[in-house]
Amino acid sequence: MSITTNIQSVQRRINDACMRCGRDPETVTLVLATKTVDSERLREAYEVGATAFGENRVQEALPKYDELLDLDIEWHFIGHLQTNKVRDVLKFATCIQSVDRQSLVDELDAECERRGEGVDILVEVNASGEASKHGCAVDAVDELLEYIQEREWLNVRGFMTIGAMSDDETVVRASFARLRAIRDRAIARGLVPSDAVHLSMGMSSDLDIAIEEGSTMVRVGSAIFGERT
Ligand SMILES: *Cc1c(COP(=O)(O)O)cnc(C)c1O
Repeated sequence: MSITTNIQSVQRRINDACMRCGRDPETVTLVLATKTVDSERLREAYEVGATAFGENRVQEALPKYDELLDLDIEWHFIGHLQTNKVRDVLKFATCIQSVDRQSLVDELDAECERRGEGVDILVEVNASGEASKHGCAVDAVDELLEYIQEREWLNVRGFMTIGAMSDDETVVRASFARLRAIRDRAIARGLVPSDAVHLSMGMSSDLDIAIEEGSTMVRVGSAIFGERT
């Protein structure tokens, strides 16, 4: 299957999921998860309308960013971020989706100040509670949000999670619903701005459920580029 066909079929899944729950498909952004995909294939995806790309590794992203400078791409960072990569990540990413701890907040804020330019962030939450996952623990989210509030350069736009790894749909759905509840409560309590509504959740296998649970951003890789080797 071609990238074009695959993007169309993912877009159809987004539309269908929105239909089922009475949402406007325009409220769901497709972010392509582009790890291991070379810049030529990204160019192909861009030409059929994909404009938001999410990278997992800074070292991999920088050369691809350089090769695609002629395109108007919105680069997100969606992988685990080491503090010593902060300087490089801000060279290309305009939204860091994986902010999950105070040391990273400190480093990002300091580097933004040096650059004189803020950055959009999502707070990554380990909503499933799985030991293997990165992300702030559910019961530590408030503390992290209060910490971020003290920082000048970080614009919280919402939250990100990776769905529970389970064949049981109710378990996966519950992890997405938990992130939505965290967002709603954070807004109600004034811990994030009232427009910090984004929920980045849903990947190739579970984007349909994620949208039904309120996702505003799905991160899709293998359904578009094929299985990674
Ligand atoms: C790889 C990746 C995705 C996309 O996963 P697929 O199953 O290939 O769609 C989404 N989010 C993150 C953080 C990823 O690392």
